[in-house]
Amino acid sequence: MADSTNVLGTPSKTAGMKVTAAHLKRDAFLYVRQSTLHQVLQNTESTQRQYALQQRAVALGWQMDRVHVIDCDLGQSGASAADREGFQQLVTEVSLGRAGMVLGLEVSRLARNSADWQRLLELCALADTLILDEDGLYDCNDFNDRLLLGLKGTLSEAELHFLRARLRGGILNKARRGELIGPLPVGLLYDEAGRVRLDPDQQVQQAVRLVFETFRRTGSAFATVQYFHQEGLQFPRRLRTGLHKGELTWGDLGTWRVLQVLHNPRYAGAFFFGRTRTRTGLDGNQRTQLVPREDWLVLIPHAHVGYITWEEYEENQRRLRESAQAQGAERRKSPPREGPALLQGVVICGVCGRRMTVRYHERQGRLYPEYVCQHDVVNHAGRLCQRLPGQAIDAAVAQLLLEIVSPVSLEVALAVQQEIAVRQAEVDTLRAQQVARAQYEADLAGQRYRRVDPNNRLVADALEAEWNAALRALQAAQQEYERFRQKGGLIIDEEVRAQVMALSTDFPRVWNDPHTTDHDRKRLVRLLIEDVTLIRTHVVTLQVRFRGGATRTLTVPAPCPIGQRWAIAPEVIQAMDALLNEHTDQQIATILNERGLHPGKGGAFTNSIVARLRRIHGLKSRYERLRAAGMLTVEEMAQTLAIDEQTVKAWHKAGLLRGYAYNDKNCCLYEPPGPDAPAKCQGRKLTQRRRFTEPEFVSERL
Ligand SMILES: [Zn+2]
Repeated sequence: MADSTNVLGTPSKTAGMKVTAAHLKRDAFLYVRQSTLHQVLQNTESTQRQYALQQRAVALGWQMDRVHVIDCDLGQSGASAADREGFQQLVTEVSLGRAGMVLGLEVSRLARNSADWQRLLELCALADTLILDEDGLYDCNDFNDRLLLGLKGTLSEAELHFLRARLRGGILNKARRGELIGPLPVGLLYDEAGRVRLDPDQQVQQAVRLVFETFRRTGSAFATVQYFHQEGLQFPRRLRTGLHKGELTWGDLGTWRVLQVLHNPRYAGAFFFGRTRTRTGLDGNQRTQLVPREDWLVLIPHAHVGYITWEEYEENQRRLRESAQAQGAERRKSPPREGPALLQGVVICGVCGRRMTVRYHERQGRLYPEYVCQHDVVNHAGRLCQRLPGQAIDAAVAQLLLEIVSPVSLEVALAVQQEIAVRQAEVDTLRAQQVARAQYEADLAGQRYRRVDPNNRLVADALEAEWNAALRALQAAQQEYERFRQKGGLIIDEEVRAQVMALSTDFPRVWNDPHTTDHDRKRLVRLLIEDVTLIRTHVVTLQVRFRGGATRTLTVPAPCPIGQRWAIAPEVIQAMDALLNEHTDQQIATILNERGLHPGKGGAFTNSIVARLRRIHGLKSRYERLRAAGMLTVEEMAQTLAIDEQTVKAWHKAGLLRGYAYNDKNCCLYEPPGPDAPAKCQGRKLTQRRRFTEPEFVSERL
């Protein structure tokens, strides 16, 4: 059509007239594509036709070896230019002015996407590149041809759209009736008639029911996982793809899996469609988004059998929403990036390779970080992988940073940089010489071509080809030269050098400045460090990876077991043992401090240290000792005397009963009352009935 008259009735140039010497000087590119691998294998005939186009190009005057075939996109979809290397190569060739003609079976199929297609047309017009397909030859600078090509592209895109719409329309119609056959979650199956049934496998049914029952009982997905884990139960999964598609496998239940089951309306016997939406991103990758329930395309409750009722499903959703809010709100309470843990977000577990999280412990008003690997705990109710106290680790990393960002180390770095710059200058000279040489060759070839008799076509053509080759070599050399210049242009001058050195002396000042917040320090860490891998053996090893790939290994002493940390003289333990007969933990701490004794690493005794030492060294607590001596609890006393517990305490306070404090909150155990037990005696004041006086705790110093 484009060859004789076109749609608008105006005469168009014939094919022969469109091809000029300027076109023939450049190469022709044949773009071969089949959408799918299936087509590549089955539709060989079309591939044959595509290669046959090569002959058309030869007929128009191109030499066979100057018709290049671009076929690396075989098996790629034409819907987007992203990821289609061949198409991109084609565009590059056209835009560099190296293509005299572009060939394709149906050229509009070069790009199924109108934007890509229009861009190619625009480039072809600018570079004066012809387009050839089975229908004819087009010149993009010719208005009629351009119009026709544009239409072809639009039609091609429309065709794709109709194809999809027809497909999707059919799917939607079926979905609206709830008859669309889609993948069912484990526990549900289609029978021969295409109806949804519970899986006849009783084990599968029980596992699914147990998930719902446990959630009903506990109200938490995590607790459900914990229960399965404690009981050693597994959960089924039906393989959706691969060699064993359709087969059933059993594995550990994870939190995400429980959530998947709870959120899936099909377990409540409801049919749904359009719960997710797929979008293609700029990079050509597809992303799946969840759609809010109001916007689902189809939702039919009571469509088939299920494991729970629709009402229970709704209730589950409500509970999950609530706990999600609670979690979210809780998280918002403590700002995520606060706290002193220097390595928050950059620590990696050296055992399992997962990211470690930070926990804080508060002791005497200060926060102490701890790095924990708890992925398995959260997701599978498993065990803590490893936990490491953060203080020493943070200190080691801070020390490393101060060392690395020091004037000396930067001096070395700058010297290396300078050395590289000198090398670069040498290489630069070499490359410049290469360009000069290519220029000389090209000039020579040009002269030879100009000198030859133009009527001697055979020689002229050969010389022209030679000249072209020389020019191409020159262009390549120039491009290479430019590329390297841009890449290696980092020569540091004195001014930059001074700035860098100033920064290095500033760094320790900034780091140690009390006005620098934890948050700022963490930002500094993140600027310099990619990640830190922690692993604990007899020491804690820190593998620090800096931005840019340099690594450093540090070690800090492993935290020793608590008993060793409080390594303590045996006589202190003996003294404690003796004191426990008479005193509470706090009183013992006071007495030991007064005697000038110290717990292992120095400092003073506190009630909690005494309690901990007592447990470590297996000393009987004061409570146990008093009980062993036959003392009664407040309940037992109340029972014995047939009075209430408040009266027991009141009588003890008034001195009618003898009691001994077993802790520092003045909780007491009582001496059995004996034969002359006090009895209720209305009318007499308790103070007048006092029988015992309580021994006051007097410290030894007095
Ligand atoms: Zn781990």
